Amino acid sequence: MINIVDKKCCCGCGACAEVCPTQAISMSVDCEGFRYPVTDVSTCISCGKCERQCPFITPQAAEAHRPEGLLLADNDDCQRATASSGGAFALLASNVIDAGGIVFGAAFDSNWGVHHIGVESIADLSRLKGSKYVESNLGDSYAKVAEAVAAGRRVMFVGTPCQVAGLRRAIGKPHPYLLLVDVACHGIPSSKVWGHSLKEFCDKESISPNDITAINFRDKVKGWKNYHFTVTHRSGNYSTREFPYILGFAHDLYLRPSCHACRIKEVGSYADITLADAWGIEHTTSNARFLDDKGVSFVMVHTDAGRDAMAGVKTATVESIDTEEMLQYNRSIVTSAPHTAERERFFALLAQGGSVAHCVAKAHRVSLKQRLERLLTPLLLRLGIKGFTKKWRRK
Ligand SMILES: Cc1cc2nc3c(=O)[nH]c(=O)nc-3n(C[C@H](O)[C@H](O)[C@H](O)COP(=O)(O)OP(=O)(O)OC[C@H]3O[C@@H](n4cnc5c(N)ncnc54)[C@H](O)[C@@H]3O)c2cc1C
Ligand code: SF4
Ligand code: SF4
Ligand code: SF4
Repeated sequence: MINIVDKKCCCGCGACAEVCPTQAISMSVDCEGFRYPVTDVSTCISCGKCERQCPFITPQAAEAHRPEGLLLADNDDCQRATASSGGAFALLASNVIDAGGIVFGAAFDSNWGVHHIGVESIADLSRLKGSKYVESNLGDSYAKVAEAVAAGRRVMFVGTPCQVAGLRRAIGKPHPYLLLVDVACHGIPSSKVWGHSLKEFCDKESISPNDITAINFRDKVKGWKNYHFTVTHRSGNYSTREFPYILGFAHDLYLRPSCHACRIKEVGSYADITLADAWGIEHTTSNARFLDDKGVSFVMVHTDAGRDAMAGVKTATVESIDTEEMLQYNRSIVTSAPHTAERERFFALLAQGGSVAHCVAKAHRVSLKQRLERLLTPLLLRLGIKGFTKKWRRK
């Protein structure tokens, strides 16, 4: 039976609730704003299935492999502009929809919370496009995916590596109609902190949240690398590089506890394909198309199903790249964010009623060591001194 004592040991994927034969498990939001399973002991029959299928309690042994690395930029600059990276997601997804399939991914709801939905038309794909830096509520999407593939439909599911792992464990074996895609994941921030932050943003700008028409965490208006947080409102656009929520996210102040000890990063991706930003590209390619600061995807292909899906992408500039080399510039794909005292300080201040902006400013004090590390890391990477290797494994 699942009983979460150490919150670092649960990623909130919901696989346990999905596989429970008596529906004894429900997901509930804790005081920090993260979802956890709660077991109703009166209906639990102690079968142990929840623990056996949990990707954190029982991580699966895997076969070592080296993923194929690709750089990708959508040839359509309008599509690329609205993607977080180079637009790999929409290119893969549109092929699935053109073949009559369904694509599951993260979308905003009417209150600007984030949840997973399934879309079946190219027009609706825009709802899934773009990174939303908030924990997405999966709802019943695992069950809907299982239903769709059982009915013989092609399905693409996109989520964080732990959401993809949870789906794989809930479904069992790889399914020929199911394409699993995970996004590289620094960690997932709290939906509660996001809710407070958006309200503070609206108050500061004197705008009503009811009149927001779009939110973009990664607006490329000033370039891919210099991305901005932009709120589109009936009264105009509000864009900033200094949104406290993003600063706090970047400094790991309110990531889910499991993101500080990510078991999926330890054993490797369960997906067919991993999508990431091609950070560090200026050191790894001379292709001008990739150096225009409009966004480039770093795609890691893990399986034959992933290779087939990538072969179907026709309208993009694609180049092979050494995976290990790219990983040197994107360490959060394979390493967990450090758990610091600043995180505890942040939540203590928030509990006292402080604004997110205030709590971020107070909680985050940059030490001299951190400053030196930030200054020296790019130089050490360039000199090849600060490298690391990672064994990739296949389930
Ligand atoms: C929380 C988070 C942390 C990330 N950390 C890194 C990182 O450290 N390094 C890195 O290289 N890349 C990271 N990424 C991935 C990167 O931001 C892009 O999402 C990825 O490169 C795909 O971009 P794209 O241009 O192909 O497509 P886009 O159009 O940007 O597609 C975005 C896809 O991400 C999915 N998605 C968006 N928000 C969420 C969410 N909250 N939960 C689950 N799925 C979501 C959507 O369903 C969609 O399928 C992160 C993404 C998220 C959501
Ligand atoms: S990691 Fe997923 S399967 Fe395991 S206990 Fe948490 S929600 Fe359940
Ligand atoms: S032990 Fe079995 S019945 Fe009990 S919660 Fe887990 S899966 Fe459900
Ligand atoms: S860092 Fe790991 S545990 Fe956290 S959201 Fe990403 S995949 Fe899940």
